[in-house]
Amino acid sequence: MYTTINEKRLYELAKKLLQKEVLDEQIAINQLREVINYADWKYYVQSEPVIADFEYDVLYKLLKELEEKRPDLLSPDSPTQRISAGLSERFPAVSHLVPMLSLDNTYNADDLNDWDKRCREFIDETEVIEYCVEPKYDGASISLIYDNGLLLRGATRGDGVMGEEVTLNIRQIMSVPLSADFIKQGINQIEIRGEIVIHKDKFENFNKQRIAEGLAPLANPRNAASGTLRILDPTEVRKRGLSAMLYHVSYYSVTANKEKPEQLNTHYDTLQWLYSLGFPTPAKEMKIFKHINDVIEYCHEFEQHRDELPFEVDGLVIKVNNIAMQEKMGMTTHHPRWAVAYKFKARQATSKLLKVEFQVGRTGAITPVAKITPVPIGGVTVSSISLFNEDVVREKDVRIGDTVLVERAGDVIPYIVKPLIELRTGEEEEIKFPINCPACNGLLEKQPDEAAWRCINMSCPVQVVEKLIHFASKDAMDIRNMGTANVQKFFDLELLKDIPGIYTIDWDKIKMMGGFGEKSVTNLQQAIENSKKQPLNRVIYGLGIRYVGENTSKILASAVANIRELYDWDIEKLTTLGDVGPKVATSVADFFSRIENRNTIDLLEAAGVNMVNEHKSQPKTEGALNGKSFLFTGTLAKLKRSNAEAMVEDKGGTILGGVSSKLNYLVVGADAGSKLEKAKKLGTVAILTEDEFLELIQ
Ligand SMILES: [Zn+2]
Repeated sequence: MYTTINEKRLYELAKKLLQKEVLDEQIAINQLREVINYADWKYYVQSEPVIADFEYDVLYKLLKELEEKRPDLLSPDSPTQRISAGLSERFPAVSHLVPMLSLDNTYNADDLNDWDKRCREFIDETEVIEYCVEPKYDGASISLIYDNGLLLRGATRGDGVMGEEVTLNIRQIMSVPLSADFIKQGINQIEIRGEIVIHKDKFENFNKQRIAEGLAPLANPRNAASGTLRILDPTEVRKRGLSAMLYHVSYYSVTANKEKPEQLNTHYDTLQWLYSLGFPTPAKEMKIFKHINDVIEYCHEFEQHRDELPFEVDGLVIKVNNIAMQEKMGMTTHHPRWAVAYKFKARQATSKLLKVEFQVGRTGAITPVAKITPVPIGGVTVSSISLFNEDVVREKDVRIGDTVLVERAGDVIPYIVKPLIELRTGEEEEIKFPINCPACNGLLEKQPDEAAWRCINMSCPVQVVEKLIHFASKDAMDIRNMGTANVQKFFDLELLKDIPGIYTIDWDKIKMMGGFGEKSVTNLQQAIENSKKQPLNRVIYGLGIRYVGENTSKILASAVANIRELYDWDIEKLTTLGDVGPKVATSVADFFSRIENRNTIDLLEAAGVNMVNEHKSQPKTEGALNGKSFLFTGTLAKLKRSNAEAMVEDKGGTILGGVSSKLNYLVVGADAGSKLEKAKKLGTVAILTEDEFLELIQ
């Protein structure tokens, strides 16, 4: 698949395409697809980006435009066809071409030796069995069918005989090719099996986002992958950035008068072959051994390094390499005989739930935290586990005194899987939620659409400290050594009571108090000084606006030149930003309308903290609209609002958040409301229709 193109050709093609030197539309479309597919393959399968995001976006847009112009040239495997605007209504049940059996598990050397013996019963004594060993990815199993080279169907495992058809969602997984050159290989139809997985770091980010949005984080990458596959909104599936790892060809049919590719004779060659056709397979991680003792040694060795892979791995899979041998061995009613899973030591343990403490977070949310009898799991001792919120507690029906099953997957935070109800004695107590804040004794409140109880006291001491810690944290302003201990100390000594106070700490007092070395004071001062130059998105994130995580902070920061522009943004305008829904928009608008928050921003700015987005505040080079301000209202017929705004900014103009005397042009679409009235009243604003705007901008 990727023998005709390499990086050199990619750059040559991309350059010509970007400069619109390819005039023939059909050729341009083909070349764009070639370049984009190659870039996707390098990025998603090989993890080696070869093209800048910006260039990629331009090429992608170009392809989309050309395809809109030439619908006759549209093809289902075009990279633009991954995205679908529609929703999957439900997932129809489909039957698998060959049942999807699960693997038999082994846990130690004895089990593997037994399995080796059972395999040998099917072959002659003189024959040598080659064993192929690959990681066992902890995700959701899938089956993919390609028909005449095109992805025809993707399905979940289901009960092994029937699965759910999730093709639309599978198309959102960028490492899954929409087409492959099977025709040239003499293959009509092929069923490939594998696992849908999520990168550990993507999973961590995803959970951070969930926590920022007030949702309980998902327990492990496996649940995240299988849950995501069954989401009804494909765009949400795409956002989560799933990956695929394919490891088995379960069925194929060969074109008449053709020979099957000889690679299909062994498992190892099959996966190398799929990899060469553009599929993500463990081609690089596979190992071949001729003796079971070597397999066992490798299993033990690999287990020591299980956390070094980017995906969660819960064991290894050992397969007989020769396919003819596999067929001789066949299967039992439950498992294939020619493959077995070697499972790593479980990262589960049981322990006793001793009591539940209630912690106050920086947004006032009260989190129940289970204290358990300390128990080692996967190399760390676990004694404290978040129960997230009241709904989770009620759903799992955990009680004080219960024996609970605890799991810790990889580097993920531990969680309680379930209480072992059969071990109850009747002495267990239900978990009671407090009605007063454990920190300030203020009354707790709960919004009908939220799971968490909250302390709404603005000066609740724990909330203040948590806000300070968050502002200084690594992902926000990154002030080294301004962690929990120091923040708490300064707060207790009344040397620090709010965020701007970080920049006016009385260092002389601290030096006089003792307990701080000269050097550590200087370091801390320097770290605080450095934080003043942090980019705007970190400042916004650090302010701790509810539901605003790192991602949303970046979106907000890139939309404005100065943070104060957000004071004028209403919910309607905020929701025009990608990824900002009504809940987030309401919270952002509310935050910036509050006088105390505006004061915080004033004080921070006075202290020298950066409040501008430099990228945006630099005047654009000689634009025709330099110094002119615009605002759009109502529904535009021809342009997307975000595109129209980008056009203005490209020409040096600025976008305002509301109607004021600073506004030059108001562009009015259908159903314009109060903004139009206000502009008319002011009398200083030029009111344009969409066509007049287009004329002006040309
Ligand atoms: Zn409180």
